[in-house]
Parts: sequence; C-alpha cells; structure tokens
Amino acid sequence: MKFLKGSPDRARGVMLRVGAALALISVAAGCTYNEALGRNQLLFVSQGEMAQLASSAWTDLKKKEPISNDPKYTSRVNRVAPKIIRAAGGNPAQWEVQVFASDQLNAFALPGNKIGIYTGILDIMENDAQIAAVLGHEVAHVLFNHSGERYSQAAATQAGLGAASAAVGGSQTGNAALQALGLGVQVGAILPFSRKHELEADKFGVRYMHRGGYDANEAIRFWQKMAASKSGAPPEFLSTHPADATRISALQREISLLK
Ligand SMILES: [Zn+2]
Repeated sequence: MKFLKGSPDRARGVMLRVGAALALISVAAGCTYNEALGRNQLLFVSQGEMAQLASSAWTDLKKKEPISNDPKYTSRVNRVAPKIIRAAGGNPAQWEVQVFASDQLNAFALPGNKIGIYTGILDIMENDAQIAAVLGHEVAHVLFNHSGERYSQAAATQAGLGAASAAVGGSQTGNAALQALGLGVQVGAILPFSRKHELEADKFGVRYMHRGGYDANEAIRFWQKMAASKSGAPPEFLSTHPADATRISALQREISLLK
C-alpha cells in the first residue's frame, strides 16, 4: 500500500498503531529508554511518524502566518541555524528553519525537523549566541521527539481509547484525526511541552550552543530578558515554567559542566 505524505491513510495507519498500542498499554507500556536523556520515554509513535502527522500542520502554518524574507532576520538565522544543527549531530539540509513576521516573542518546533521563529523575538536578541540559545532549545525538542511523547501521553491519558478508535473508525481527513488526539493545526493548539521537556531542551540547547562555538552564558542572559518582558501571550519557553529561577539555576549548573 502506498501512503502519500500526510495523507489520511497514513494518519489512519498511525492511529491504528496508537490504538493497538493503547490496547496493550496495561500489558507493556510503550516505554523506551533514552540513553542521552537518562530516562524512559512513553512513545507509541516514532519521529518519522510524528513528522508525517505534523507535515500538514507545518504547511498550514506557512499559509496562515506571514513569512518574512527580510534579510535583516533571515541572514542571522541562516548563519546560526546550520551551526547549531551540526552541533546537535544533524544535517542542516534536512531541516527547515522559517522566520515568521510577527511581533510575538516566540519560536516553536514541529516534528520533521521544522522550526519557526518570529521576527519579534529576533528583534530582542542582542547577538548570534542568543539566537543559538533559542534554536538549540527547539532543535532539542525535535531530536528527543518531545512532541511524540506528548502525543503518546495525550493519547494514553486524555483522549483515551475513545478518541483513538473514533479516529480509526471515521473517515476524517488527516487534520481531523490529529485533532482527535489533541494535536491541532494551529501554533496555539500544539501540545505544550511539559516542564521536564523544557528543562531538557534547555540542557541540550546549551550543549549545542557550546559545541557550535557560542558562549552558553548568553542563554542565561536571554532567558532572563525574556522573563523580564511580560508582553502578550506567554512564549513557548516560559508558558510551562512556574519558576524562572529554577530554570536559570538549572542552566547555570549545566553551563558549569560544559567542557
Ligand atoms: Zn521549549
């Protein structure tokens, strides 16, 4: 059977897998040990499957959110992104980093090696190292399949078997199937990462920065600046963090361990 990229058939195939995984959850939880993270991850979906599921969300985003081609922004991002991706062990040719024209102090990552960053947050970045801090953070979310983990958690605990079987049994489009499991197509509807995920993204983000030749201390300066600016909706980085001080001290500890 041939699956088109992001097709309903493809999404349904994954739904079937999720449904089957849920059925087995009491017997064998979908836990895999991640060596780098040093913990188990609950994953019913692989990075590749998440990439398929998110591809239509990314396409929609690029239609709805104005893309910026202003070299004032794109030249900076295109200079830093490849260094961070390589430092993380990735191939820049397999990633898409897009600048969106918006005043929001935000950036986000989607499965399938997609990163979005807003002109608003770039405007407050004082140097390339601060861009590297945000990109490193987002790259880490993708590489550790945090979205897949949130998706699996949502499927297991919130949506449950009902939503999974509805998605499998219905004739919805891929998007509807995604929504059934809580993975929306809007940026605002993307499953928020947990505090644990944010701290992990911070931790590996500064490692990538350091390896990429950037001063990791700029991450702390930048997050402090973000914490001080209380404009609009909480950015992805801050929304799930109850205590900025916890985050800063975790970063300081991580930076002190860099070699
Ligand atoms: Zn994050």
